[in-house]
Amino acid sequence: MPSATKPRAVRGGIDLGGTKIEAAIVDARNNVLGQARRPTPTEGGPEDVVAQMIGAVREAAGAAHLDTHELIGIGVGSPGVIDPVSGSVSTARNLPGWEGHYPMAAALSKELKAPVYVGNDVQVATDAEFKQGAGKPYKSVLGVFWGTGVGGGLVLNGRDWIGRGGAGEIGHVVVKVGGARCPCGRRGCMEAYAGRAAMEGRARKRAKKGTKTDLFKIMEQRGRTRLASGVWDRALRRGDRLAIRLVDDAVEALGAGVASTQNILDVEAIVIGGGLGIRLGEPYAKRILEAMRPHLFVDGDPPAVTVAALGDLGGAIGASLLVT
Ligand SMILES: [Zn+2]
Repeated sequence: MPSATKPRAVRGGIDLGGTKIEAAIVDARNNVLGQARRPTPTEGGPEDVVAQMIGAVREAAGAAHLDTHELIGIGVGSPGVIDPVSGSVSTARNLPGWEGHYPMAAALSKELKAPVYVGNDVQVATDAEFKQGAGKPYKSVLGVFWGTGVGGGLVLNGRDWIGRGGAGEIGHVVVKVGGARCPCGRRGCMEAYAGRAAMEGRARKRAKKGTKTDLFKIMEQRGRTRLASGVWDRALRRGDRLAIRLVDDAVEALGAGVASTQNILDVEAIVIGGGLGIRLGEPYAKRILEAMRPHLFVDGDPPAVTVAALGDLGGAIGASLLVT
């Protein structure tokens, strides 16, 4: 393609997840021109993670017939505590060896020769749904990302709400006082029942004690080492009783936690995303709404509960929106 006809204002977006890194090249109308996916390193440190991110962006840019220096900027949706001004990331617990501060934006920018902006992964995915996806018809949206953990993002009256930086942690809404231990170390959080990591922990424990399940057989057949969303989906379709039981518990916890949040915020729509949310899709969004009903104070007028429309690329598209 001759460079004179290249689309202008093309941006990059990276969704840095605990299991995978998703990169997308997006034009001014938010069309995806190229994409790439890499596994997130499970060992090493920030340098190794950043090297994979660089590889993913280069591959996505290649697919769009561009070089990374031609991008007007690259946005990153990252877990952990973000300093949006310096672009550094700290205490990203899902990433290997990431206890201290790491200047992510500077490290990426140096190699990719484009300005880099870093934001919170869940908030950028919520923004993407609000601007381009399932949240488009609404002014106030709660994003619930049901995956390894359960993350939440908020757009209230058209504006992001991040509080003092720690808002949206819907996974740690308490659904049972003194309940199960959450990966965060506290007890009774919604994530302790609905997060895929917690669900897997429970499944392993029950299987060890002799409960019959095909979950781990399906995992092995698929060449996985974790109970990925696709494994849960397959087990549910096969009628695996343990899978059904644990997902029922997850839906019940989501119902209580999301309804309690709705009682405070009264948003128009709740967008369900995340690996499990997207994989299980509309029937489960409906089930979550049903599970919310008994806990909704304004029970005659529930919010719309809908599945994220941008799918797995929502995080990367959302991250690209950080480029202004
Ligand atoms: Zn927790």
